[in-house]
Amino acid sequence: MMAEPFWIAGAPEHGTDDLVVTHPYDGSEVGRTTLATAEQVDRAVQAAADVAAEAAALPAATRSAALDHVSRTLAGRAEEVARLITAENGKPLIWSRAEVGRAVSTFRWAAEEARRFSGELQRLDTDAAAAGRMAVVRRFPKGPVLGITPFNFPLNLVAHKVAPAIAVGAPIVVKPAPATPLSALLLGGILAETELPAGMFSVLPIANDAAPALVADPRLPVVSFTGSGPVGAQIRRSVPDKHVTLELGGNAAAVLCEDWSSEADLDWAAQRIALFSNYQAGQSCIAVQRVIVPVASADRFREKLVAAVEALKVGDPFGDGVQVGPVISEAAAERIEQWVGEAVASGAQLLTGGKRDGSSVAPTVLADVPADAKASCEEVFGPVLVLSSVADDASGFAAVNDSAYGLQAGVFTHNLQTAFRAHRELQVGGIIVGDVPSFRADQMPYGGLKGSGVGREGLRSAMEDYTDVKVMVLTGL
Ligand code: NAD
Repeated sequence: MMAEPFWIAGAPEHGTDDLVVTHPYDGSEVGRTTLATAEQVDRAVQAAADVAAEAAALPAATRSAALDHVSRTLAGRAEEVARLITAENGKPLIWSRAEVGRAVSTFRWAAEEARRFSGELQRLDTDAAAAGRMAVVRRFPKGPVLGITPFNFPLNLVAHKVAPAIAVGAPIVVKPAPATPLSALLLGGILAETELPAGMFSVLPIANDAAPALVADPRLPVVSFTGSGPVGAQIRRSVPDKHVTLELGGNAAAVLCEDWSSEADLDWAAQRIALFSNYQAGQSCIAVQRVIVPVASADRFREKLVAAVEALKVGDPFGDGVQVGPVISEAAAERIEQWVGEAVASGAQLLTGGKRDGSSVAPTVLADVPADAKASCEEVFGPVLVLSSVADDASGFAAVNDSAYGLQAGVFTHNLQTAFRAHRELQVGGIIVGDVPSFRADQMPYGGLKGSGVGREGLRSAMEDYTDVKVMVLTGL
C-alpha cells in the first residue's frame, strides 16, 4: 500500500520509517504512513512558532471560513470517513458514523464561535476613584498548542483540539495515536485545502518514545492531552511550567435511585446501560463500567440487564447492525480477559460473557466483585460491566464516589431534589440525569475530577484554555 503523507506546516511529507495500520478485527493491513523524523518534527514546531503572531491576527472571517470548510467537507465525505475510522479503530460502523456526525458539528460550532468570540467593555466608574476609566477585556492566544490524542475516537478527539485552536487563532501540532493515525491525516488533508497560513497546523505521527521531547519543547506553551492516566501524570510532572490540560480515563458509574423502580424505568435503564457499557467495546472514557442498584429492585434489574446485554449484536464491525466489535488489539483483549479472570477468582459471579476470541471480548457482566479487583477499581476500557447493589441513595452516591476517578456519572431518578443532591455530592465533572454517563456535547464543559484529569474541554472551554485574558484600561473618557 502507498504510504499516506503526514502534514508539516500545511504541506504533505513522508518520513523514513513505516507505520503500518491494521484492522483490529482481523489484523489485515488497512493503510500505512511514516513516522516523522526529528528534523521534520523540529520544522513543524518552528513553523508553528513562526506563524503564531500572524495566526493570532487572522480575521475571524478567515478562521470561521476554514472551520466551515472542514465541517462541510467531512459531511460530504461522511461515509468514506466513517469506514476509515472503522478500518483503523475496529468500532462498528454505527459508532463511526456517529463520530463523524459529531466532528461535523464540532467544526460547525467552532465556525460560529470563532465569529462570536470577542471581548467585553467594562465600565470602571462605579468607583469614584476610577471616574473616566473603562476596561477593554480581551483574550489572546497563549501560543502554539500541542494536541496529543488517543486511539478510541481517532477523528473526534483530534477535532476537539484542532477546532478550538483555529477558532482562537492558535497554531496547532497534532500527535495522533500510533494505532489510528489515518483519520487525523485525512483531517490534515482537508485543513490543507483552506486559506489558513502554512504553519498553522501540522499532523505528525511519531513514536511514543519521541513524544516526551515534543511535550518539553518550549516553543509549544500549551499541551492538550487526551489519553491514559499514567501518561497524563508523566506529562504533568515533566512540564510543570506549561499550561497543560489532561483528559484522562475513568470507571464511570450509572446509579439507579430508589424512585427509579417501575418496570418501564428498569427496562429503559437496562437497555441503555447494556448498550453504553459495550459501545465501542467499552473503549470510551465514559462507557458505563459500574452499575449501582438499590437492593429493592436488584433482582428484577439484573435479569433485564443480562437479557439486554445478551441481545447485543456482536461481530464484524463492518457487519450490518453490529453493535459491539473488537477492542483495539489482541493484547488489550488478553488484558481484559485476565482482569475478568482475576475478579472471578476472587469471588465475583460471572453473569454473562467472559469469553475472548482473538481481539474480540464477549460483553461481560460481573456481580459481587471485590472492591479492590481491577475490574472494579481501575479502568477496564473493555466490554465489562460490574453490578452491585446498595441499601439506598446515600450509599449509592457513596459507591459512585468510591473511585480514584471522577469523569461523569449517570443518575437515574425522576426526583428533582435527588438530581440536585447528586449534582452537589458526586465527585465527577458532570452528571447525566435519567440516562447513562456516556453523553457528551461540544457546547458543554467536559472533563474530570480526581484521577480523570485537569481542566475542561468542550469548545468554549478549550478556546478559553488556549488563550490568556488581558485587560486594557482607558482613561480620560
Ligand atoms: P495512551 O495514554 O496510551 O496514549 C494517548 C496518546 O499519548 C497517544 O497519542 C500516545 O502515542 C501518546 N503517548 C504515549 N506515551 C507518551 C509519552 N510518554 N508522552 C507523550 N505522549 C505519549 O492512551 P490510549 O490507550 O491511546 O487511549 C486510551 C485512554 O484515553 C483511556 O485511558 C481513556 O479513558 C482515555 N481517554 C480519555 C478521554 C477524555 O476525554 N477524558 C477521551 C478518550 C480517551
